[in-house]
Amino acid sequence: MKKRHYNIPIFIPELACPFQCIYCNQQKISGRLKIPSEDEIIKIIEEHLETIPVKDSEVELAFFGGNFTGIGVDVQRSLLNLVKPYLKSGRIEGIRLSTRPDYIDEDILKMLKDYGVRTIEIGAQSMDDKVLLLSRRGHAAKDTEKAAEMVLKNGFSLGLQMMIGLPGDTLKSAVYTANRIIDLGADNTRIYPTLVIRDTVLEKMFRDGRFQPLSLEEAVLWSKELLLIFEKAGVRVIKLGLHPSEGLLSGEELVVGPFHLSFRELVLTEIWNDILKDVLNSDNSGEIEIHVPISQFNYAVGYGGKNKKKLLKKFKKVRFVRDNGLFRMEYTFH
Ligand code: SF4
Repeated sequence: MKKRHYNIPIFIPELACPFQCIYCNQQKISGRLKIPSEDEIIKIIEEHLETIPVKDSEVELAFFGGNFTGIGVDVQRSLLNLVKPYLKSGRIEGIRLSTRPDYIDEDILKMLKDYGVRTIEIGAQSMDDKVLLLSRRGHAAKDTEKAAEMVLKNGFSLGLQMMIGLPGDTLKSAVYTANRIIDLGADNTRIYPTLVIRDTVLEKMFRDGRFQPLSLEEAVLWSKELLLIFEKAGVRVIKLGLHPSEGLLSGEELVVGPFHLSFRELVLTEIWNDILKDVLNSDNSGEIEIHVPISQFNYAVGYGGKNKKKLLKKFKKVRFVRDNGLFRMEYTFH
């Protein structure tokens, strides 16, 4: 039986990040953030482990926050040391972390390997230098290429994250980035639509009329294209859309942008909308039964029943059936 994967997320803020990516408000909020204490981290780990079944599960500890290798080496070591006993007992199988492409070198990778890190996610954001420059990322596409090569050469699994809708970004450029991520050997990716967050350069640009974020509809359509490209290449899209932090949920942080709590569902609804066009074009207009993979059931029916409602305009009765003999985007109907 395939083991179920669980992440225990620990957020490590970059307290003194020397960069000024235009979409990020860390300069303003860093005073309010702090790295969790050792006790807090142990508490988070224990609380998660209590809820994760011991049998048939694969647990990874995930240090998120953008730039793990940008914090002091001593702090990195003490954080990694906290996980050691859990790796030894086998309760946690590995560590994953995210960082910038220009903060990786052979020495750091060797240290991370020794501490049981398995997956390194690099914030590529775009592989188009113009977009990187306009976003003041402070690195170029070639830095991501170099970092990806080093990560793979040292035996880690590679994640490459991308953003869509940054200044200068186009659908063509986003598709190019996705294809480069595939070529560079990523095993997984995350797609984040750009949001305008309060107290950022992007907010000022938006208010001055120099930047317009993607609409929700555009972000969904771009993500649909990208998801299909990654699917075809066997690269797992482990996140679509930003994790809803408290600030985003309350509206305190978000100025404007394509934020939606069910962003992934919206994207997959559109993919199934396209797939089901065949069904819509069939001669039958009476009752129809559509079999779909269990994992795709909600997406096939569509967000808010969108796809089913569309089919009901043509068919008298529409029934979706979860079929455990179908996988990925397979379906049958009669
Ligand atoms: S997004 Fe950019 S500015 Fe913000 S923490 Fe990461 S590297 Fe620093």
